[in-house]
Amino acid sequence: MLFPAVEKLAIHGGRPVRQKSYPVHPEFGERENKFLQRVLASKQWGGFHDFVGKFEQLFAQFHDCEHGVATANGTLALEMALEASGIREGDEIVVPAHSFVSTASAVSRLRAVPVFVDINSTTYNIDANRLAAAITNKTKGVIVVHFGGQMADIDHIRKKLAGHDVMLIEDAAHAHGAEQHGQRAGSVGLCGVFSFQNSKAMTAGEGGILTSNDEDLASRARSLANHGRKTTLAGGFDHLRLGSNYRLTGIQAAILLAQLEHLPEQIRLRQQNAAALLKQIKTPGIGFQRAPEGTHVQTLHLLVGHIDEEIFGLERNEFVRAMNAEGIPCRPFYPHPLYRNPMYKNLPHRVEPCPVAELVCRNSFWLPQEVWMGSSTDTLDIRRAIEKIHEVYKPNTHLNRLQ
Ligand SMILES: *Cc1c(COP(=O)(O)O)cnc(C)c1O
Repeated sequence: MLFPAVEKLAIHGGRPVRQKSYPVHPEFGERENKFLQRVLASKQWGGFHDFVGKFEQLFAQFHDCEHGVATANGTLALEMALEASGIREGDEIVVPAHSFVSTASAVSRLRAVPVFVDINSTTYNIDANRLAAAITNKTKGVIVVHFGGQMADIDHIRKKLAGHDVMLIEDAAHAHGAEQHGQRAGSVGLCGVFSFQNSKAMTAGEGGILTSNDEDLASRARSLANHGRKTTLAGGFDHLRLGSNYRLTGIQAAILLAQLEHLPEQIRLRQQNAAALLKQIKTPGIGFQRAPEGTHVQTLHLLVGHIDEEIFGLERNEFVRAMNAEGIPCRPFYPHPLYRNPMYKNLPHRVEPCPVAELVCRNSFWLPQEVWMGSSTDTLDIRRAIEKIHEVYKPNTHLNRLQ
């Protein structure tokens, strides 16, 4: 052959890099079965089974917290966190411009005002340098999201908030077990909130928890979650405050107790696979979300990447399609920042300048957690696919030179 053959892409009818699928999430084993059987055989399938308290304690402990209050899902845990913190109508809460909707909707459900602040182009978490400009005398709190399972730049954020009477709440829905400067997610703010929804690193299908080292906050939350009863989890007909029923069930707790046992080893494997891949990807025009210094553990719920069309040679949507055809799961980033959702046409909010948030809707994508859950060769197929696609589309350097 005179010229080295360029391999035909799967979108053009070539052979895909991968024929096999990645491991299926969520994973489970004997322990989930065993604990579930125990709850089923008890008379108590609901929120008063002993497993709920036991799970709250173990999960909180694992995240360096004294208190855990489990809920039916992460969205309710966020709403409960804000209510237990005393947030009221008209209070302003700073949130990142990109997250799952709950980060902002929880604020709006309490008739408070979300103030959307730009994200950092490297970490994809809230930009600490833009916090001061967003704070007014109505600002009561900041919700940071540990996006994808990489913790936000907590030291930097704390410095920027020093001198302001503003509380820090962590939306740690992606960040089970994440750690920065020796501190676990959920323990660095006034409280943290986790989700156990089906796609999260630890799951019971649905579920959530608030973690905190603030005893008053935790007991108010527990009371809110249990019809405004006294702060210990119990039944009865005395209601001290207007609460509701946010309780996690014994059935969910059974699954979560087992999921928590698996978590450290799963995170270790995910990190090992991701580190090996990131070390090897050298393709021009493609880059990935990077954690702030001091990040020792990241959950890898997902990993965000970005593509520079001019350099890589292909636009983001086409790239995602080409990757999927090669057998690599890969999705476009959120289509718009949270403030562009139709619901914010009618809800009080403020938007700070968000040039990065606007850009990443067009140039970013994410790799879901499944790709880190297998062997290192499974993960390295991502590199093979990226290189194969770039080889076909890379801008013609010879022609460029003639221009
Ligand atoms: C999943 C998620 C939530 C909400 O959790 P649910 O358990 O689905 O209600 C909140 N914030 C973020 C960033 C999430 O990804």
